[in-house]
Amino acid sequence: MKTQLDWSAYAHYGEGDAYADIPAQGGDFARAVAVCIGNRQCQRNERGVMCPSFRVTGEALHSTRERIVALKAVLNGAHVDFTDPRLWAALELCVACKGCKRECPNGVDMAALRIEALAQRHVLRGTPWRTRLFARLPRLLHRVPVLRQGLVLRNRLGVLRALGERWPGIAAQRDLPVPVPVPFHPPLEGTGPEGAREVVLWVDTWTRYFEPRIAEAALGVLRAGGYRVLWVEAAADDAEPTRPVCCGRAYLSAGLVDEARHEAQRVLAALMPHVEAGRPIIGLEPSCLLSLRDEYRQLGLGEAVPRLAKAAVLFEEFLAAEQTAGRLKLPFKPMTGRTVHVHGHCHQKAFGAMKALRKTLGLVPGLSVDLIEASCCGMAGSFGYEAEHHALSLDMAEQALLPAVRATPETDTVLADGFSCRHQIRDGSGREARHVAELLFEALVPLSDPVAHEENIHATS
Ligand code: SF4
Ligand code: SF4
Repeated sequence: MKTQLDWSAYAHYGEGDAYADIPAQGGDFARAVAVCIGNRQCQRNERGVMCPSFRVTGEALHSTRERIVALKAVLNGAHVDFTDPRLWAALELCVACKGCKRECPNGVDMAALRIEALAQRHVLRGTPWRTRLFARLPRLLHRVPVLRQGLVLRNRLGVLRALGERWPGIAAQRDLPVPVPVPFHPPLEGTGPEGAREVVLWVDTWTRYFEPRIAEAALGVLRAGGYRVLWVEAAADDAEPTRPVCCGRAYLSAGLVDEARHEAQRVLAALMPHVEAGRPIIGLEPSCLLSLRDEYRQLGLGEAVPRLAKAAVLFEEFLAAEQTAGRLKLPFKPMTGRTVHVHGHCHQKAFGAMKALRKTLGLVPGLSVDLIEASCCGMAGSFGYEAEHHALSLDMAEQALLPAVRATPETDTVLADGFSCRHQIRDGSGREARHVAELLFEALVPLSDPVAHEENIHATS
């Protein structure tokens, strides 16, 4: 079996262990599957993230463990191959939240195993149209400007919603996100004083085309902190120099590994000169930025990847680290009496980034922070837009997230750093959640108030 991802990190797993139960075929991929020890912790409805599909259905089939059993059956020849319906009955509701990677005692990485299984199925059976459509959205946003008008029409006309549900299978009940008329266009030159500490603000596809206000808010905060902000577009020798680099997450989620690798190569070409110059790469969307620290390691792209991973930080991770180092000087005004209710993106939780988020929010004097105890929001990229998954996606959100959001006073702020999470919260509760960069920008003392500005710098530094 020729694997699509690099599984060599598991090359020594189970060596010399007669009970490791490593499947007969699949090489290092089989070793990654065999990591599961079968203690069925993923079939308990406990605190934490793992496993949202089991929690919402209550069926063992939709737990991490049964997915492992099905993968082993394929690798041992008990199931036909990667197209076997029994495998996909188990994998279908995995939302790739990475909860198991963090919470399973052995760190089973089902999100990555699922990418490999999807890729193997595409090889045998081709890639479905809807999968291609969702995966290619970042390219379409660049290439097809009239996509915006098409999406506006689709959302407005019931007949188009109904047709879209029949083919390619997009839930008629969902409003699709509509790009803004003018996407974020960073200035060519850096922004901020020459000689100041330089950082790179990497504006991902979703922020660029749908919510540029988040990039503008992040820029405002970084500028107020005295940093010189540099931007990243495609490398000069890129074959598509006008198409902004995209992390390739949409391709990865769809199991289109070659396409994801191509996107990752573009990212490396554009970012590595900054990494070599010692500049942090700051990202806003957790699933995009964290793919540089996680899945990129499995794309076989060489030694630059760990260096990039080390430099890649979420906006709040950057600010928290600067605060720890005593370098952060941000003039925040008090927000006494205000509470922010925070829904963490699954990948923020999987990578332990919630601490940094909490620390960053703690920089605003008087602001109360309430972490919502919830698992995956259920949107999970395209999952919640798929006609057959729409109801279950909302059921996942109803487990804890949506009731918690509805219980918050209208005057409080709901915060969610994930693009999909914000859409699920809006669809399920009517509330507009905000990104941490927007809240911090709102908390800044305007430069037009020099006395308060100076006083508050001292208060938070
Ligand atoms: S996936 Fe993890 S939690 Fe579930 S049975 Fe296997 S080892 Fe246990
Ligand atoms: S990635 Fe999430 S949904 Fe999938 S098996 Fe792991 S915990 Fe369950």
